Amino acid sequence: MARKRTGRSRPRLEVWKFGGASVADAAAVRHAVALVQAHRGPLVVVVSALAGVTDALLDGSRRAVAGDPAAATAVAATFRRRHRELAQALLPRGAARVKLMASADAQAREYEEIAHAMAALADLSERASDTLVARGERAASAVVAAALHAAGRRAVRVDAAEFVSTDGRHGAAAPDLAATRRQARALLLPLLKRGVTPVVPGFIGAGPDGTVTTLGRGGSDLTATLVARSLGAARVVLWKDVAGILTADPRAVPDARLLPQLHHREAAEVAYFGAKVLHPRALIPLDGSGIALHVRSFVHPERPGTEVSTRQTLADYPVKALATIRGQALVTVAGKGLMGVPGMAARTFGALHAEGVSVSTIFQSSSESSIGFTLPGVEADRAVAALRAAFREELKAGLVDGVSARHGVAVIAVVGRGMAGTPGVAARVFTALSASRINVIAIAQGSSELNISFVVEEAEAAEAARRVHTAFQLGKIGGGRPPGHSTDVVLLGFGRVSRALAGMAAGAGNGRIRIVAALDRSGYVFDARGLSRGRLLKLAEGKDKGKLLAGLGGRRASAQEALHEIAAHAVSRPVLVDVTAEETSDLLVTALGQGFDLVLANKKPLAGSAAAYRRLVDTAASSGRRLRYEATVGAGLPVIDTFRKLVESGDSVRRVEGCVSGTLGFVLSSLDSGKAFSEALREAMARGYTEPDPREDLSGADALRKGLILARLLGFAGATPHAESLVVRALAGVTLQQFLARLPGFDGAWRTRVAREAARGRVLRYVVIATPRGVSAGLRAVPRDSPFGSLQGTRNLLSFTTRRYHAEPLVVAGPGAGPEVTAAGILNDIHALGSE
Ligand code: ADP
Ligand code: ASP
Ligand code: MG
Repeated sequence: MARKRTGRSRPRLEVWKFGGASVADAAAVRHAVALVQAHRGPLVVVVSALAGVTDALLDGSRRAVAGDPAAATAVAATFRRRHRELAQALLPRGAARVKLMASADAQAREYEEIAHAMAALADLSERASDTLVARGERAASAVVAAALHAAGRRAVRVDAAEFVSTDGRHGAAAPDLAATRRQARALLLPLLKRGVTPVVPGFIGAGPDGTVTTLGRGGSDLTATLVARSLGAARVVLWKDVAGILTADPRAVPDARLLPQLHHREAAEVAYFGAKVLHPRALIPLDGSGIALHVRSFVHPERPGTEVSTRQTLADYPVKALATIRGQALVTVAGKGLMGVPGMAARTFGALHAEGVSVSTIFQSSSESSIGFTLPGVEADRAVAALRAAFREELKAGLVDGVSARHGVAVIAVVGRGMAGTPGVAARVFTALSASRINVIAIAQGSSELNISFVVEEAEAAEAARRVHTAFQLGKIGGGRPPGHSTDVVLLGFGRVSRALAGMAAGAGNGRIRIVAALDRSGYVFDARGLSRGRLLKLAEGKDKGKLLAGLGGRRASAQEALHEIAAHAVSRPVLVDVTAEETSDLLVTALGQGFDLVLANKKPLAGSAAAYRRLVDTAASSGRRLRYEATVGAGLPVIDTFRKLVESGDSVRRVEGCVSGTLGFVLSSLDSGKAFSEALREAMARGYTEPDPREDLSGADALRKGLILARLLGFAGATPHAESLVVRALAGVTLQQFLARLPGFDGAWRTRVAREAARGRVLRYVVIATPRGVSAGLRAVPRDSPFGSLQGTRNLLSFTTRRYHAEPLVVAGPGAGPEVTAAGILNDIHALGSE
């Protein structure tokens, strides 16, 4: 089969929209230009106003009209400066730059003049407002066109008002699809044919009288889909500063997850119900066209973002996304006369239509004797007046009891095509809300069965969204995989324990665990598909040579930034594993808010102040996340597990005593057989048993932390005492090197002490004691043949005295230090989380 022409077939047209953040400053525009340059094939570029400009233009003119003309002057000055700076940064000296600056100056001057004129009239018409605000996109598109041109791309600016025809409704115009199509083709196709890239200001069009009309806030999305439909493009890409369309607004629901794909109708629903990520009517032009839409991350263009198409994925999720419309009022027409009277609903909505108000959602009350609907709060009074007029007769006759408005409510829409075939979706929503005492004011099941919406007090909207999000496990959506598929692990700290964990996680029986990211103090490496074993080993090798992750192919970032990035991406059941020895409390609290479960080998966050401990435990509880820390005490030994099982079986633990420091155990038991203290410590260090600075262990601080963790489990909430330190005061403040050099000087004293105890049949052990009332940690002389006395090497031993085990305590003993056993403890926790 000869397919000679395949290789030469022309790439198909795409329409790319750059949102405000993508043209916010010179660096952003350069990045946008680079993306366009790297793309082969015909493109139409649609541009939003620079981030913040639309808001500023609107705000300046409103304030001017309200009596503060200086506000408009200030906005004009900022507008001029921002655009001039872009011209200066992006264009070489010369005519093009001068022209661009002059046009920014003119736009700013005009803005100021018009705003002042409006102020003089004390009236800001929608029409004037559109004229004022349109210059945001006009100026931005001029900058982008010039920057593309300067970079060598054949690009020209084409004003949208020349081909986007609208119904002329200022502030929220609807496009005329047929006229727009005709004009767009006539204007843009010839340019494209000549290899030119048209650059179009988004958000604006022209009304029947030729004046500029805007398409409503966020309207550039709609411009992009309009152009795509008109020209028969293959796809639309909306470049935004979010990873894509998320399961909910991340500002309200921190563990919102990226949706890899969404059906057109689902996306339209989410947009209609107020998710700012898409203009509410942006999908209308694409209806039935087969044109795919991609919402992609401007910051991470290598990632796929969200595909909006007619495919159906994530079949295991009946609900895929939530959206919230705030600032609503619920208007109710109530009365027995409504029951069974035909045409009441039609009259209600007819009256509203005549008044020019459009409702967001129609609700039924449970009693069926009222009609309710929500609409923007600012329109409520008008709607109520119109309805009272329309039902004047019925009101008089007592058939309609009243028309009232309840302000300050929000509508939350729960969206997903799968809910049509899944019973009990509404019940799940309401169970989740009633469990947290959120009052549902009204409900509506969309006739399409694509959404269920409900009304709550605006103040409770964010909490309601979080609850419903959790109820449908939307925090687990990731990479298109169904729930329960795998656990994604993010390693905080990349040292010996992490390496051991990497080796084990790849091993048999651990197929459901993937390490997707590793962080250190320099930055992070991340791959949502999982870091391969080979890659992890390479990283470990590099770390051995003293390198940091940022220098090993990672990204430079703070841990907060890294987690933010990773959380925004497609990770499923993400678990953050803290294997550092740092004060990570704040970071962990943030991570809980971002949807991570936590597994700790790091003791510090649990063994700091009582308040810090409570904050961590309470945040986990209130955000529905889980916190496990088996590896903090006794490494891989089932210490906390034993405690839990005792409690679950109805026993009560009164006291836990233990030799919990592998290092101290190793050093002290070495002394039994006559070894020098300094020598024993060096050996412990060489074997990797100690903390990076062995004085952490010798001071008893590390053992005390473990004791404190246990005491807190037992209910202790008091202040932390000091541990008995095995480091003489003289060596506490010196450098590690000096410490090691001077340590042999103390070997004699240790030898004497050991010999004295040996003569009484005793040996020295470091013992922590935890009870509900406190914790202690210190050196004890114990009988050589007692459980503690016979303990050798790094082995740990913990004895639990409980109501049931009171004569003879329950003992847990075994290896309690070293990277391998610590990793095993962590792995157990991860498995436990994965199977819950
Ligand atoms: P553009 O730069 O293209 O105009 P927007 O700023 O309008 O992009 O849209 C992105 C914003 O939408 C994000 O900052 C985010 O806070 C908000 N948002 C609300 N709901 C969602 C959602 N479900 N998914 C992604 N972003 C959302
Ligand atoms: N600049 C306009 C706005 O902020 C339109 C857009 O960005 O899409 O609403
Ligand atoms: Mg937008």
